[in-house]
Order: sequence, then structure tokens, then C-alpha cells
Amino acid sequence: MKQFKCQRRVSGQLQTEETVETVTSDMGSLETQTPTESAQKAERKLAMEWRTGKKDINSRVFVNRSLTLENIKCYGFDMDYTLAVYKSPEYESMGFELLRDRLVSIGYPHELLGYTYDPSFPTRGLVYDTKNGNLLKIDSNGNILVCTHGFEYLRGPQIQGYYPNKFIQRDDTERFYILNTLFNLSETYLYACLVDFFTKSTRYKNCEKGFKHGDLFMSHRSMFQDVRDAMDHLHDTGTLKERTLKNLDKYVIKDPRLPDLLSRIKEAAKVFLATNSDFTYTEGIMKYLLDSPHGPKNPKKTWQSYFDLVVVDTKKPLFFAGGTVLRQVDTDTGKLRIGTYTGGLQHGTVYSGGSSDIVCDLLDVRGKDILYVGDHIFGDILKSKKRQGWKTFLVVPELVKELHVWADKNSMFEELRHLDIFLEGLYQHLDSESRECPDISAIHNRIKMVTYGMDLCYGKMGSLFRCGSTKTLFASQLLRYADIYSDSCLNLLNYPFSYLFRAPLVLLPHEAAVDPQTKEQTTSELSTIHIIKPTPIKV
Ligand SMILES: [Mg+2]
Repeated sequence: MKQFKCQRRVSGQLQTEETVETVTSDMGSLETQTPTESAQKAERKLAMEWRTGKKDINSRVFVNRSLTLENIKCYGFDMDYTLAVYKSPEYESMGFELLRDRLVSIGYPHELLGYTYDPSFPTRGLVYDTKNGNLLKIDSNGNILVCTHGFEYLRGPQIQGYYPNKFIQRDDTERFYILNTLFNLSETYLYACLVDFFTKSTRYKNCEKGFKHGDLFMSHRSMFQDVRDAMDHLHDTGTLKERTLKNLDKYVIKDPRLPDLLSRIKEAAKVFLATNSDFTYTEGIMKYLLDSPHGPKNPKKTWQSYFDLVVVDTKKPLFFAGGTVLRQVDTDTGKLRIGTYTGGLQHGTVYSGGSSDIVCDLLDVRGKDILYVGDHIFGDILKSKKRQGWKTFLVVPELVKELHVWADKNSMFEELRHLDIFLEGLYQHLDSESRECPDISAIHNRIKMVTYGMDLCYGKMGSLFRCGSTKTLFASQLLRYADIYSDSCLNLLNYPFSYLFRAPLVLLPHEAAVDPQTKEQTTSELSTIHIIKPTPIKV
């Protein structure tokens, strides 16, 4: 069965079982389906790797919805944290220090300078409650999975003190701020530091909505606003960018495979870059990333020549709606030309602003022909999918660590799964006549303990994707809006451009209930539950 799945993946077309069997027994039959020799070679190599299990899990692209690369006529890329991956935690540390120093410079206590960035604390996708100063990890419905006040983890009754239903209205964007991006990690940590400092400081009195010192009231709301303003200040003054450009080796990962990836894609399809960064910064980063060895047979290429279209200052997510005025950039001075650009596509020209509709017009492609690769679940992926119907590829750099922990600590998840099945078993034979009420408190305590232990394996705020057996808001958005995802866009190098990314078939609960395989599995799991050993948990 495993081999069967594997063979379905290598084909560029959806196959019947009969065809698959033919392919399994004779790899030569693939040759009739692929256009070039190199594609055939790549498919055979890939098939062999899947079959023998040699393909490194870290070099894979994962699939939520089936997608055929053969149908993709245009590849779009975001730049920051997509093509340009920043070194972690060096980059976040720099961001944190710049933000912290800015707060001190506008009057915050000097003691804050004693805090340094701890990469093991923040997880992307947390929500900041600007009323109470809490950091929350939530599921897609707004149910609270983890809650911290400063660096203190709040327990059930404490959480209920703040949020009676352990639930937030996440649509209340005035109060709840979602820290969605990798740029937000340093900011997330700063919120925890601020609450930690003022809570512990003997000069300040703790109040529900902030801290009081004499006639001064530091509300959580005003501190949130100060941090946001400090972030805007860093961007507006270009401090973060300037420091990055001066220390590219320190902060940006230069991977020699990137020029190869873009060159190979450009042979198969159109390629564009759409970044919110300005021209000067984009040029500095892209020159660094795409500067590769050249010689008489391999002439030097400009970074723009890797793309059919380059658009800077895109103002995503607005880019996927009305957009802004499209202007040409004078690449000698970095200044914008006046007026709206209304001409056709000029190769080598860099544009500023515009919209996704303008990109489609300039490149003469439709939304469904585009695979857009980005790291921002909201600005890149959700908006391009919901508003324009683009195919989407989410880059999740945290996947490397997440997969490592998942593989290493899988026994804990197995225990959770078995505890869950055991619970199900306790209720299975009860009906409306039953008077007995099973005592499940010990099992619930064990579930909480294993969940907490599992979270700590990922970091202090746990996994990006789950809290025990519950998926986070981020994981739910990834499942819903990203067609495919991987830790790096470079993993596209491992697949031919005719590849079928095939989504696993997921049964609905009522379908799974009558699926013979699942039924058989569940019955056998229930009968073996007693042999599961508890996982030792260090807390
Ligand atoms: Mg980005």
C-alpha cells in the first residue's frame, strides 16, 4: 500500500489504479508522460527516493490540496523570509534590541536594557491582549490553549478570571493583535518583558489594565501602542534595514541553490517578485543572494534578470485588493517616476506599488495559473487565495525544528492519542438510560500533563501548529489557505516542473466511522490500550 501511494505521487497526471500498477512494475511507462529527458530523469530519481525512503523529510514540500506544477504558468515570490531568509536568532535579537532601545530612548525605565532576546520563548501566531497584557495561544475558534502574563503561565482558574469562557472574540482587532509574522517574534518577546518588568518592579502597583506609579498610569494599551510606534519608527527610519545591509553575512542566509532555482523556474514558467520592501533594500538583498560565480561561459547576470517582473513597495495585503498606483522605479537613483505607469511589460524595469490584477495583466496570466510563494499567512497566503484564487505555497522556516521535535517526541503524541481513545471507550457503551458517570479526572490530568510536557519540547510557548491534540489558529489557517507548504522555497528544486503534489484523502468523521480500515484500527487500538506505557515528562 505504501509503495502504491508513492507511485501515485511521481506521476504528472491523476492515474487509475491500473496505470499505477503498470508504473510500479515498469518505470519506463513514465517516459511517455514527460516532455523532456531531464524531466524523465528527475521523475525517476524522485520515484526511487520516495520508494526507498531516502528523501530527507526536511527537503519535502507538504500538500494540503492537490496541485499540478505542469499547470502553473507563473511563479510569484515574496522576498523577506521567503527568498531572503534571515538568520535566527541573530536577526530577531537585533530587532528586539532596536525596539527595546527605542522604548528606553522615549522614556521607558533603563532597567529594560537588562533584558536580552530569548528565542526559546516566543512562538509565531500568538495573540496579544492589549487590555490585560496577556499573550495567548488560541485555536481557530478563539479558544485559549495557553496564556501567559509576562513570563508567568496562567492556570485554568486564572485564565477564567480574565476570560470567563477561556475564549476570545478574535475578530475584536481593536483589543486582540495577532502576531502573525516572523518579524513579530522580537515584538512578542518585548511584550512579555514589559509585563514582567512592571509586574516585578516595586515602584509600580499592579492594576487590572496596567501599572500605576504616583499619578502615572502605564496601561497595557498604551505600552502596546508604544511598541507598535517603535516598530513603525524602525521601519520608517530604515534603521533595521540599514543594519541588515551593513551586516548581510551576519543576518541573511545566502544559499547558492537560489540562483539555480530561479533560473530553472524561468525556463519553465514566468517569474515575478512582489515585495513590500523598498527598491534600495530589495536591490541590496537580491544582489547579495543572487550574486553567483561567473566566467566566460557563464556571464554575470543582474538580479533583475532572474525575474520577468519585479514589483517593490507592494503594500500587501492591499496589493491583493485595490492596490496602489503603479510607478516605474529609476534603478540608478531608486526614486519613483511621476505618474501612473500604463505601458506594457518592460524587461529589466522595476515597478513600485500596483496590484495583483496589474501583475496578471502585465504578465498575461490568470490567477489560477499563478503559484505564489510567501511566508506571511495573512498578507501573502490568505489574501492571495481568498481574493484572487491564486495557488499558494507557504514558507514555514520553523518546520525544520517542528519536524525534528515531532519525530523525536512522537511517543508523547501517541500517548495522547491513546488516552483519547481510552476516554472514548469509557463512554462507548453508555446510553440515555445509563446512570453511571465515568470518573475521568485522572485521565484529564494526565492529558494536561502530557500536553504541557509536549509543548515544552518545542519551546516555552509550545509548537506553532498544535497544543496537545488541538490545532492552533496558525495550523488551521495553513490547512485552509496554503495549497502546499515547506520550510523553504528551495525545496521546489527536489521536484520536476511536471510534478503532481497530491493531497492525502481525509475522511469526514461520519465517513471514517463506516470506513472498514479505520473501524478495524480503532477496535484493535481499544484492545491494546492497556499496554501503552506513560511517557516520562520533565517539567
Ligand atoms: Mg515575507
